[in-house]
Amino acid sequence: MKITYSVPAVLLMLCTAALGAPSAEKIQAQYRSAAPTSWGERVAGVITRAPVGEKVVFFTFDACGGAGGSGADSRLIALLRREKVPATLFINSRWIDAHPALFAGLAKDPLFSIQNHGTSHRPLSVTGRRVYGIRGTDSPRGVYDEIMGCDAKIFSLTGKHPRFFRSGTAFYDDVAVKIASALGYKIAGFDVLGDGGATFSAARIAAAAVRIRPGSIVIYHMNQPKKATFAGLARVIPQMKKQGWRFARMEEYF
Ligand SMILES: [Zn+2]
Repeated sequence: MKITYSVPAVLLMLCTAALGAPSAEKIQAQYRSAAPTSWGERVAGVITRAPVGEKVVFFTFDACGGAGGSGADSRLIALLRREKVPATLFINSRWIDAHPALFAGLAKDPLFSIQNHGTSHRPLSVTGRRVYGIRGTDSPRGVYDEIMGCDAKIFSLTGKHPRFFRSGTAFYDDVAVKIASALGYKIAGFDVLGDGGATFSAARIAAAAVRIRPGSIVIYHMNQPKKATFAGLARVIPQMKKQGWRFARMEEYF
């Protein structure tokens, strides 16, 4: 697979050192012989929900980038701002390249938390495992590059390292999850599929929101302005507010 964005090797090394994380070479050496035993969206170590009893919910929005994934849903972003809904944004390197000014504005806005959605938007695997026709990373070094390429890009633009990672497709093997952890990252899964990868109608988005429980992490998309995510959330947010729900960024609880 063509890597559409690369960061200078020296910046990768600096960011790795700043995180107190092992180098790419150490990661490769340590996990080279490790064989994955699980694969999916909910392997051990993936966070799916906060263990709380209060009516707090974590809305997350992916910005995937690449062909067909580089749109920006400005109506959705305006809705979150207007309704003062804090959100955790998972942003891929390629999306940042497509929207530098918009990214800078989001990163400056305290309503939003900028997190890592990968360098080239691949499932996180040490064996090249595929899902939805997308080939995963295929080595410990590949996992390192997928995480740290986007980390370094975000750090170079914001001065901050993300703490949460969500892969393109949200699939992982257990060795990849361990590598992410060694790099200081928590893996952000979800327990409610909010917009079905931006395929749901507004009515179905509203129906999906009924499944939200205290501490739920809900996955939506902010890169498909022609789909119904905005229209669905324009219904869901006022309704949830009326029911006494509070919206929070993941970093406030995890
Ligand atoms: Zn994505």
